[in-house]
Amino acid sequence: MAEGCLFCKIASGELESSIVYEDDLCVAFHDINPQAPTHVLVIPRKHIPGMGELEESDRDLLGHLMLIASEIAWMEGIDEAGFRTVINWGHDGGMEVPHLHLHVLGGRTMSWPPG
Ligand code: AMP
Ligand code: ZN
Repeated sequence: MAEGCLFCKIASGELESSIVYEDDLCVAFHDINPQAPTHVLVIPRKHIPGMGELEESDRDLLGHLMLIASEIAWMEGIDEAGFRTVINWGHDGGMEVPHLHLHVLGGRTMSWPPG
């Protein structure tokens, strides 16, 4: 757990969130400021700051996060219509919370290119 990290606090339960799924490796919860009818964040329990700080040893964990994102889409009922997964990183990527997280967005038609 990284000192002062918002998502580490959510993962440990120190900070309340609307959890939709959790297991030994990850936690998924509703985004507090949803950008679509369904907007869930999937985070590893391990504090990984972001895409720029991945390690070879994170390979299995990253695969797990993708599989859980897909399962959450099914749980939220957006798997058939389609959905979008997003990982922001760094200034230009628009990252705000420096703890790796995967956005699962759905329930409306997305546009491209992203803003
Ligand atoms: P990013 O810009 O990729 O770092 O996304 C951070 C996301 O975390 C944003 O969509 C925020 O709305 C969301 N967020 C920030 N604080 C909380 C919180 N306490 N509970 C749930 N989502 C949060
Ligand atoms: Zn953290």
